[in-house]
Amino acid sequence: MNAPTKDAEVVDLRGQFPILQRQIHGKPLVYLDSANTAQKPQAVIDAVSEHYRLHNANVARAVHTLGEESTAAYEAVRGKIAGLINAPDAQQIVYTRGTTEAINLVARSYLRPRLREGDEILVTEMEHHANIVPWQLIAAEVGAKVVAAPVLDDGSLDLARLGEMINERTRLIGVVHVSNVLGTVNPIEQISALARGAGVPVLVDGSQAVPHLAVDVQALGCDFYCFTGHKLYGPTATGALWGRAELLAQMPPFMGGGEMIDRVSFDGTTFAAPPHRFEAGTPNITGMIGLGAAIDWLQQLGVAQLRTHEAELGAYAAAALQAVPGLRMIGSAAGKVPVFSFVIDGAHAHDLAMILDQEGIAVRSGHHCAHPLMQRFGVSATLRASLGVYNTRAEIDLLVAGLERARGMLA
Ligand code: PLP
Repeated sequence: MNAPTKDAEVVDLRGQFPILQRQIHGKPLVYLDSANTAQKPQAVIDAVSEHYRLHNANVARAVHTLGEESTAAYEAVRGKIAGLINAPDAQQIVYTRGTTEAINLVARSYLRPRLREGDEILVTEMEHHANIVPWQLIAAEVGAKVVAAPVLDDGSLDLARLGEMINERTRLIGVVHVSNVLGTVNPIEQISALARGAGVPVLVDGSQAVPHLAVDVQALGCDFYCFTGHKLYGPTATGALWGRAELLAQMPPFMGGGEMIDRVSFDGTTFAAPPHRFEAGTPNITGMIGLGAAIDWLQQLGVAQLRTHEAELGAYAAAALQAVPGLRMIGSAAGKVPVFSFVIDGAHAHDLAMILDQEGIAVRSGHHCAHPLMQRFGVSATLRASLGVYNTRAEIDLLVAGLERARGMLA
């Protein structure tokens, strides 16, 4: 099946998501919270259930048939992830529980041994806490600091200022590819070029990018790229870190345990090569297999057409929301993905979200794990509607009507 372009065509695709058949408070579910976590297609649910039904065994240790099947299915996902982000080699893909674990891994294993008092880690004001707090934790240990490049009023990054902030103390740049609040797509190629000129590595948080953009880590020119599987229609607690081979090779283990060693003795232990060096213990086997199924499913759907559908729906949603009286959109940078954060005069985001829920409409309200960005825009919380492959214009109309009714109730 090809990716949809009109509501009628989305109906068929929606049928692949069992949860979308649900009624919430007697109304059909309108799911507009995909940036938080995306719903799962039947193909992903089937892959997980089939693995448990037919192939379940631990990976990388048993020589019996089930063990071999399980290991082969699990390891095959590395190649799918490498293909998804155009990594040069599947062995440069480290499995993680998601973006949070990936960034903590790079902070602890790559940067911490290199970090000295007075050093700086440069991030942006639009980062998710997952790309702020891990750096703060290691910075505090040595007296380094985390500094942030500013965001402009339209929600785009102040690239000129970011360039000026790179200096001889900068040890790493951590930047989000696509903001989970603003929908802004950051100019990673340009940031990588600036960083390369100064010999500074770049880590990109791709959590909100992989569900919306064709990602090519080689073209982006970054050094680390990570994402989380559950926003990509895959299971929770799955994800990956891509790192340049020479950087991964220099990094010590992140956690110790089974399956990350070469030889263990009480006189000393040697470690496996990357990526297994960073994957101690029994992993989320079925989760990663489900993520592989999600990647296959998305690629079958046709990533390019999906972009067209999302761009059309995003333009429709932006115009419809702007027309709601008293609505202030936060983030209107050109080329943004369909993630809409806004506040409405005289109505708290949580109250609006609760009223919408009564109508079956799921949106997120709150700070979106981005306190500094909320401060930058002078708000404590926003309402966020974020679109996925299954959304329709009719759902946008329901959201707008719901917002107008909710506003009337709260006025
Ligand atoms: N970075 C961004 C931009 C996100 O949107 C999120 C999730 O909301 C994360 C990081 C953290 O992802 P996870 O909790 O799956 O590790």
